[in-house]
Amino acid sequence: MSMKMSQTLFKTLREAPRDTDTVNHRLLVQAGYVRQVMAGVYTYLPLGLRVLNKISQIVREEMDVIGGQEVLMPLLHPAANWKLTGGWDGINVLFKVKSRTDKEFALAQSHEETVTPLAREFIHSHKDLPLAIYHIQWKFRDELRSKSGILRGREFLMKDMYSWHVDQSDFEKYYQQVKEAYLKVFTRLGLITKVTEASGGSFSDKVSYEFEVLTDAGEASILYCDACEFCVNVDDFTTYKEGNGCPKCAEGRLRQAMAAEVGNVFDLGQKYTKAFDLTVLTKDGQKIYPVMGCYGIGISRTMGVLVEKFHDDKGIIWPESVSPFQANLVGLKNANSVYDQLVKTNLDVLYDDTDRSAGEKFADADLIGIPVRLVVSDKTGDKIEWKKRDEDKTELVGVDEVIKRLTQGWGRRNFS
Ligand code: ATP
Ligand code: MG
Repeated sequence: MSMKMSQTLFKTLREAPRDTDTVNHRLLVQAGYVRQVMAGVYTYLPLGLRVLNKISQIVREEMDVIGGQEVLMPLLHPAANWKLTGGWDGINVLFKVKSRTDKEFALAQSHEETVTPLAREFIHSHKDLPLAIYHIQWKFRDELRSKSGILRGREFLMKDMYSWHVDQSDFEKYYQQVKEAYLKVFTRLGLITKVTEASGGSFSDKVSYEFEVLTDAGEASILYCDACEFCVNVDDFTTYKEGNGCPKCAEGRLRQAMAAEVGNVFDLGQKYTKAFDLTVLTKDGQKIYPVMGCYGIGISRTMGVLVEKFHDDKGIIWPESVSPFQANLVGLKNANSVYDQLVKTNLDVLYDDTDRSAGEKFADADLIGIPVRLVVSDKTGDKIEWKKRDEDKTELVGVDEVIKRLTQGWGRRNFS
């Protein structure tokens, strides 16, 4: 839906907010996407919510393709489920709440404890497998270091999917499918991810992948090969060092970099199916505990990572796929009729219809970071000035051409 700026819950700040240690925090507040309520807790304003929803939708589409079934599980959990798995005492980030009835609850830090009893109701035989359930829901974690803007929240949005399989090999097949789906998600978001290989290392025989985006704002230290896709987390693989030859391709060298983990996939084995006594009957009538996997994507963290990756000294530069709007229409005179035509063609436009100077409006357009800027002024006559956020070039084009370009996705950034 298109919006007029004068009627939107929206305010850019002339000065960068103080006490921000990361680009995503500074720009998201300054450009009017979020407001910080306290460390690690944010309100998403209309523009910020649109970006979160766009990221969520891309993730949703790719999870649906691989058979994930979307549900919505609650945030308030009975303590009993967390006591059963040991999380109540074992997970230090778990927020615990006491009711006035003296009953205890946990705030969702993850949803294994909710989804496994749910799956138990639907899985009885090997014929019910595999099953994959996901949702896009907030998580609460009592993080000690929640200070990198929306990269590390005490409350944050995650897509978490869980799957059950008759045996390890079926699980591993699905696992690869999820990995491919994740790579598609991140490509659609305009992000290049490095996938850490954490399988079979010294610490665990379980397979897991972490999807990392190189950025100094991230907290993970990784070593990656400059020639092939080899990548490891520095914490786990102490045997490798920066500058070493790549153990995988033998051609490249290992480089060390900071990265933000935007997603991961884990082999949970039978831990939760055993805890909740989720069993199935196999073909030969044997009772077994299915193998379970879990797959997370940090939706709100990814939004922050996008800002870390795509900005310049003037503001944010959103990839088209997640931009809150397709175009930013800047009216230096009344541009209502152009706006109405764009709205009629179902284009999503943010219309700066405020009564401010051209300088202020242009500065805001750069700060907000919508990939296409359209200007209507006395100088443009019956044409519209077209400019991409990441280019200096401007062009005068007719409204029909604007509609054609936007419909065909001309705001798309070139990531090649
Ligand atoms: P990290 O090592 O960064 O703490 P994690 O291993 O605890 O991450 P998971 O519990 O597997 O992560 O969560 C899945 C995804 O959720 C992560 O890959 C990350 O993108 C995101 N995530 C985790 N913790 C946070 C947080 N505090 N704030 C924002 N996003 C988070
Ligand atoms: Mg964590």
